[in-house]
Amino acid sequence: MRQPVAQALHTCVVCGKLSYRSRKVARKVANQRHPDSRLSAYPCPENGAYWHIGHLPANVRHGVVDRAGYRDALSRRPR
Ligand SMILES: [Zn+2]
Repeated sequence: MRQPVAQALHTCVVCGKLSYRSRKVARKVANQRHPDSRLSAYPCPENGAYWHIGHLPANVRHGVVDRAGYRDALSRRPR
């Protein structure tokens, strides 16, 4: 029997990404699907109750911009 994969709740209408209910679940999915990449789990900038997985912008990863700057960068990104 297949190992149950952590389920995404829905696709975030703001980010267009799958949403997970916790950091733990999001990280687990990231590790299962993309074991060789450096995907991060991060809270949805629009709804902190949900988590997405993906590559953070480099300037966020390096701590150059704060959380407000990150939100701003996301809002400028083409959808
Ligand atoms: Zn989102």
